[in-house]
Amino acid sequence: MKIKVTLLLLVLFAGTLYSQSIQSPSEFLGYEIGARFTRHHKVVAYFKYVSTALKNVKLEKYGETNEHRPLYVTYISSQENIINLENIRKENLSQTGIIAGNATNKKAIVWLSYNVHGNEASSTEAAMLTLYELVTNKKAWLENTVVILDPCINPDGRDRYVNWFNQVKSTPYNIDQNAKEHSEPWPGGRPNHYLFDLNRDWAWVTQVESQKRIAIYNKWMPHIHVDFHEQGINNPYYFAPAAEPFHEIITDWQRDFQTQIGKNHARYFDKEGWLYFTKESFDLLYPSYGDTYPTYMGAIGMTYEQAGHGRAGLGIQTDAGEILTLKDRAIHHMTTGLSTVEISSKHAEKLNIEFKKFFENFNFKSIKVTF
Ligand SMILES: [Zn+2]
Repeated sequence: MKIKVTLLLLVLFAGTLYSQSIQSPSEFLGYEIGARFTRHHKVVAYFKYVSTALKNVKLEKYGETNEHRPLYVTYISSQENIINLENIRKENLSQTGIIAGNATNKKAIVWLSYNVHGNEASSTEAAMLTLYELVTNKKAWLENTVVILDPCINPDGRDRYVNWFNQVKSTPYNIDQNAKEHSEPWPGGRPNHYLFDLNRDWAWVTQVESQKRIAIYNKWMPHIHVDFHEQGINNPYYFAPAAEPFHEIITDWQRDFQTQIGKNHARYFDKEGWLYFTKESFDLLYPSYGDTYPTYMGAIGMTYEQAGHGRAGLGIQTDAGEILTLKDRAIHHMTTGLSTVEISSKHAEKLNIEFKKFFENFNFKSIKVTF
């Protein structure tokens, strides 16, 4: 009996050790997030490492860029949900009428997309932090939520920026706005290999990254989609609600819930004294953005904008005299990403009810689609 108890304790202890032994991005990479820009293959290596070590994380390759960099989504949820992933997907899809059935899904499906503009490079760093937080400190949210995380929509653009930056940066980095490391040459890392802006391509799918991503997006039809961006170095953080006027297809629920999400972010930002703005500059009209396309497909689609962009490098002095660092940029994006998952998990059932209602206005049954 004593041996059995000891054995049980050992197993429990080993289980705790196992879950605690996941390396943070900094431990895995050998430097603090924000100390360098992480090249894409190392980002992929971290996601592979976590998904191999944990049963509640699953990686799926969905395509390849023109320069042969792999494109991945990562499913992060409870272990039970990951085992049941295909059923959850089909149940959710049947709520839209795209496939037959009357199944009811109760899990929130949250899709987080990072670094569509390659030189807005803090967001892929934030993606690694977000993954780590979700699988360690925020596991409770994953019981009723499936997070689909794409760490880098535009790896060719990102590596173009990161490789250039690494070639010209000073050590330590130079905060002077006139320094070479803050003056990215044409064409910059924003577009993809063929210099297309992938954040104008969601509806038209002219580029291979968009074609592959939309194929998998439409198989899932998430309830929430966030597109992480960066803007000029002097701007406070931007999050939902978006600027008016709203397109008439956007329902009251979609308007209300983006406001609730924004209020949840504001709680965290207020606590830290971080500045932010809402309801200005970023609209929901043009259908081919990473926020509007998902919105027109029934989701709450949003853009989040951190100050930084191709100018900021590892650190830069803003016009106000403050130092904007890559580390802070990544932490801000991690905070809003986690806050999005938190509030979605809190309202998982309502999200599904309202998502289903959105599609009652449409008749997909006449369209022949095979999934
Ligand atoms: Zn952008």
